[in-house]
Amino acid sequence: MPHKKIHLSSPHMSNEGYEMEYVKEAFDTNWIAPLGNNVNEFEQEFAEKVDSKSAVALSSGTSAMHLALKAAGVGEGDIVFCQSLTFAASTNPIIYQNATPVFIDSDYETWNMCPKALEQAFEQYNPKAVIVVHLYGLSANMDRILEICNKYNVPVIEDAAESLGSYYKDKHTGTIGDYGVFSFNGNKIITTSGGGMLVSDNEERIDKARFWASQARDKARHYQHSELGYNYRLSNVLAGIGRGQLKVLDKRVEQKKYIFDFYKKELSDLPGVQFMPINEWNDPNCWLTCILTTGKVRPLDIIEALENENIEARPLWKPMHLQPYYEGYDFIGEGVSDWLFKNGVCLPSDTKMTDEDLQRVVEIIKGLW
Ligand SMILES: *Cc1c(COP(=O)(O)O)cnc(C)c1O
Repeated sequence: MPHKKIHLSSPHMSNEGYEMEYVKEAFDTNWIAPLGNNVNEFEQEFAEKVDSKSAVALSSGTSAMHLALKAAGVGEGDIVFCQSLTFAASTNPIIYQNATPVFIDSDYETWNMCPKALEQAFEQYNPKAVIVVHLYGLSANMDRILEICNKYNVPVIEDAAESLGSYYKDKHTGTIGDYGVFSFNGNKIITTSGGGMLVSDNEERIDKARFWASQARDKARHYQHSELGYNYRLSNVLAGIGRGQLKVLDKRVEQKKYIFDFYKKELSDLPGVQFMPINEWNDPNCWLTCILTTGKVRPLDIIEALENENIEARPLWKPMHLQPYYEGYDFIGEGVSDWLFKNGVCLPSDTKMTDEDLQRVVEIIKGLW
């Protein structure tokens, strides 16, 4: 009999059924189609949760990034600096705007944007915006990055798709720069099956993003458009799922941290193994537990051994400057992100895992040494 499948990170609805209550409300009031009470409440509850002045609920994290770039004034021919070690959803919207990405390396201390490489990039280019990512719930070195970007007066967009529930010092990641992008894709710490949120303390810009996301319909009785619009709003049904999921976010963070601690206790003594860096100013959500393995056991050995037991593990994100689609664009750095990609593994971090499941994963990995 094949072993029970263990996922990297799968949807986890509340035991209490909060999500269904809100979805039912949408059905009962016939607010199925695009907007309605759940969308408004989800935006407000989310903004409160992360301590931001305003938020707009969107159909994906990718659309949130797209509108963040637009709100920051990025258009044709502009340069945008973006952390190279990330998922393509951080960078593709730069291309949607006909702008040009310049990829910035990571550092070993944070795995996120290297302030030194960022400084170097500013010596060569004049960007319109900077996209910094908080991978796996780890936060970037925001004080240094903001210091540099403020010096050049360039807006900062935080890709917090993986870091909802993480703190940098006393602030939620995604609320430190000018704009914060969140995702509720199925593998994220909370999910609406698909969805995203754009937050900012600049309410005027969020209102503008909401306008663009709703087909840019001018205030008129007929259909009147003075600007290019998009169909990017989150549906009222999915917003209901989001409201319910928001209620269990703290619990999910606790469970993710438990998983991290479990692995750390069991695996940190293996020769050549290092855990993802948690700095003193970072309280991460531990969305995925990631390790580096630099000894005889290679990342692929771990991934294959787990796969043979029906357990999902993955390499770290492949940096954008190594992607065939992006090979023509500049990269500033010394190849730290290349090295992290070569040596890193994301371990199964599904909050539905039991202690026995975790023990099973640990035994398979230890068996390789
Ligand atoms: C998931 C994710 C996104 C957004 O993805 P969507 O599927 O569009 O919601 C953006 N950036 C990063 C780093 C992500 O992991």
